[in-house]
Amino acid sequence: MAKTKPSVAFIGTGIMGAPIAGHILDAGYPLTVYNRTRAKAEGLIERGAAWADTPAAAVADADIVFTMLGFPTDVEEVYLAGDGILASAKQGATLIDLTTSSPDLARDIAEAAEVSGLHAFDCPVTGGEQGAVAGTLTLIAGATERDLESVRPVLETFGGTIFCFGGAGAGQTAKLANQVALSAAMVGMADALSLAQQSGLDLEQTRELINAGTGRSGAMDSLAPAALAGDYKPGFKVKHFLKDLGLALTVAEEKEIALPAADTAFTLFDMLEAIGGGELGTQAITLLYQEEADATAAGLDWSLYRAEDADEEGCACGHEHEGHEHGESCSCEHGHHHDHEGHACVCDHDHDHEGHDHAHHHHGHEHHHDGHSCSCEHGHEGHGHRHHHECEHHHHHHHDHGHKE
Ligand code: NAP
Repeated sequence: MAKTKPSVAFIGTGIMGAPIAGHILDAGYPLTVYNRTRAKAEGLIERGAAWADTPAAAVADADIVFTMLGFPTDVEEVYLAGDGILASAKQGATLIDLTTSSPDLARDIAEAAEVSGLHAFDCPVTGGEQGAVAGTLTLIAGATERDLESVRPVLETFGGTIFCFGGAGAGQTAKLANQVALSAAMVGMADALSLAQQSGLDLEQTRELINAGTGRSGAMDSLAPAALAGDYKPGFKVKHFLKDLGLALTVAEEKEIALPAADTAFTLFDMLEAIGGGELGTQAITLLYQEEADATAAGLDWSLYRAEDADEEGCACGHEHEGHEHGESCSCEHGHHHDHEGHACVCDHDHDHEGHDHAHHHHGHEHHHDGHSCSCEHGHEGHGHRHHHECEHHHHHHHDHGHKE
């Protein structure tokens, strides 16, 4: 007779969590689920999962606990709160965080778990909603092969390939490297489609061409079709990608390196979130290149960006950032000392950067870099919103800024 399977708790049944938990359930593991919004767990409950009213109740009897939450702040709360997982899980349980979260937080959780007689590791995933539904995700473990041994069968119910990066937090760092590569692919996709569109090319043909050669990417392959069809529902939410890029830029800052591609992507996705696109799929980046009417039709509101611009009081650090000397880090104590090189306004005016806001911490651990828009106060009348965007990136040079002197 087969040994009874270990019992599993799953917390966070959103776009990714629900299908992953579904595979665990289908494989015959006794499953208890919890999610902030119960409605998103109903499908699993109907299929036989037990519901728990709190994370503590969900994990009380579980041998293996999975979490698939939104942000590092969610992970911190669910694991480390007084009535969180660490305080409630049973001795010897293995805790696996699938969320894309902070490497430092993953290390903190792993250490605290060890002290409590538990085993915890980070195991973010890649492969998107499609991979979660198909059960073919790539898993990126902050653990050794040996650490994984006892839980490998349950990981294989939803994972195709498992990469072991050795120690706690390393899975998160590797996932962030993946997101950095993705950031360039996303911006590349949107840039290429814009160039093709403005030049009157057939967009689907262009997409196929690019995917047939060395310009191909997962973004061009799986996200461009949705963008071209005007379908912006998530898949992968803009607000989550922004979180990932903020985390990657934080690591880059700690290592004192620049990541210009991730930085550019951060600026663009931050803008997209500022105009109401946080809950859209990342393919909505293409809307930044479109006429305002298209953005409005997709539920975005460019006036929010203007309002935010005007309302911001600028970086609280008290430094004037004169003459674009952004080589030194800002010391504004926002917890994110980001090197601003590469984002200087290209308008050739020697304005200081008051008004370049550093609105960090919209989401707790992650950091926002809106602060790269041109603040030269020329109004840019008649240029519409695309101008806003073009002003802050060197590579958008096909519009006359109207203030070259
Ligand atoms: P999602 O649909 O927003 O799911 C997150 C789920 O976690 C939601 O159901 C949310 O509850 C729940 N949650 C958040 N905080 C919670 C808390 N404190 N207590 C209980 N439940 C909580 O997002 P997703 O697309 O599944 O992504 C989840 C994570 O995976 C993110 O970190 C994301 O970056 C990463 N990821 C996503 C993809 C992708 O393609 N979607 C791919 C790889 C990695 P509510 O229902 O109440 O909001």
